Amino acid sequence: MTKFNYYQPTEIRFGCGRLSEVGEAVLRYGKTCLLVTGSNIPSLEPLFSKLMNSLKDAGVNTVHFDGVIPNPTTDTIKNGAIMANANNVDVVLGIGGGSSMDSAKAIAVEASHEGSAWDYLFYKKTQPTEKTLPIVTVSTTSGTGSQVTQVAVMTNSNERDKSAIYHPNVYPRIAIVDPEVMISVPPRITAATGFDAFCHAFESMLHPAASEYTNLMAKEAISLVFGNLIIAMEEPTDITARSALALADTLAGLCIANAGVTLPHGIGMAIGGMYPNVMHGEALALNYPAFTRFTYEHAIKEFAFLGRSLHSPLINESAHKAAEQACDELDDFLKKIKMWYGLSEFDIPEEELDKLAIQSLVLPDYKNNPIIPTLEETKKIIKSCFNR
Ligand code: NAD
Repeated sequence: MTKFNYYQPTEIRFGCGRLSEVGEAVLRYGKTCLLVTGSNIPSLEPLFSKLMNSLKDAGVNTVHFDGVIPNPTTDTIKNGAIMANANNVDVVLGIGGGSSMDSAKAIAVEASHEGSAWDYLFYKKTQPTEKTLPIVTVSTTSGTGSQVTQVAVMTNSNERDKSAIYHPNVYPRIAIVDPEVMISVPPRITAATGFDAFCHAFESMLHPAASEYTNLMAKEAISLVFGNLIIAMEEPTDITARSALALADTLAGLCIANAGVTLPHGIGMAIGGMYPNVMHGEALALNYPAFTRFTYEHAIKEFAFLGRSLHSPLINESAHKAAEQACDELDDFLKKIKMWYGLSEFDIPEEELDKLAIQSLVLPDYKNNPIIPTLEETKKIIKSCFNR
C-alpha cells in the first residue's frame, strides 16, 4: 500500500434533527454571529424558524446577511464582511448550498484581514491566518462538500474569473448535516448537486493524491449517488434517499479535501466564472461526456469501476471494455437525471469557446488529470461540448 496523510479538523454532526443543535454549536465560538444565507426561499421558511429559535435559545445574538447569490461574487463577500465588522461578530454561520457556505468562509477571511478575500486566493503570497473568524456550517444541498473542505469558491465578475481560497484556516469548525433540511431542494438542483458529489468522489480517485483511505469513501459516495439520486428527484421527501445523498456529499467532500479534483472541475470553474447563469453541477455535466472519452484509457482501473457501478454485467467483461463502456453508461445516467445538454443551451456564444478553453487551464486542476490536455486538446474538448 502507498503512504498517505489524512487531515480533517471539522466536527461533523450528521443526522435528521441535528439542525436544533446549531445554537449550541455557534455559542462555542462566541455570542454574536453573522448568519450568511441567500435571499428568502419560502420552502425553507420552517427551517429558518427552527434555526432562529435554536440560536435564540442558546443566547446567541444574530446579525443576518442574506445577500448570497448562486456562484457568489467578490461584491457579495465585501458586503457580508462590512456587516460582520460593523457588528463586531465572533463567528460566521453559513447556511445553504455551497454558495452560502463558501461565502461564509470568504467573509470570515475578509472581515479579519487586510484587503479583500480575493487577495487570499490559493496562489497568492498572503494566506488566511489564524485570525480568520470561526466558521460553522449547515449544508442545505447535497453536492459541494464545502461543509468539510478548506475551499471557498468565489467569482470576480470584473475579471470573469472563478477561483478559490484553499487553506486549512477556512475549514468549518462544526458542520451540521441534517438531511431533513434537504427535502425542499427541487429536482433540477437535486440533480446538479448530486452529480457534483459524484464528480468529487470520482475525480478524487483519479487524482495523484488519492489513497486507499479516500478511495474507500469515494467508492461508497459513488454507490450512494447512483443508488439514490433518481429516487430523491422523483420523491423529494424520501428521507432515506436524502440521507444517503447527504452522506455521499460529505464523504466526497472529505475526499476532495485530502486528494482533489481534476480536469472537469477546471473546465467547470471556467464555465461558472464566465457564465454565472450555469450552476456548478451543470457546468460539470456539460463537460463530462468529453472528459470521460479523453481520459478513460489512462485510468482503466477507475473507469472500469465506474462502468461496473453503473452497469453490473460489465463485471464479466475485461477492465478495458468496462472502462470504455463507462463513457456510454455515464451518458445514460446524465440523460436519466435530465442533465444531458450542450453549452449552446445555456446561451454560451460559440465565438467564446477558445477563450473558455484558455480559461479552463488557469486553475491547476487539469494537471492532476491522468492525461494532461494541451491547449489544442482542451479546445477540442470544449468544442465537442457545444451541441448535444
Ligand atoms: P447553491 O448554493 O448556489 O444553491 C443553488 C440553489 O439552491 C440556490 O438558489 C439556493 O437558494 C437553492 N437551495 C439551497 N438549498 C435549498 C433547499 N434546502 N431547498 C430549496 N432550495 C435550496 O448551489 P451548490 O451547488 O450547493 O453550490 C455551488 C457553489 O459551491 C458554486 O459556487 C461552486 O463553485 C461551489 N463549490 C464549492 C466547493 C467547496 O469545496 N467549497 C466544492 C464544489 C463547489
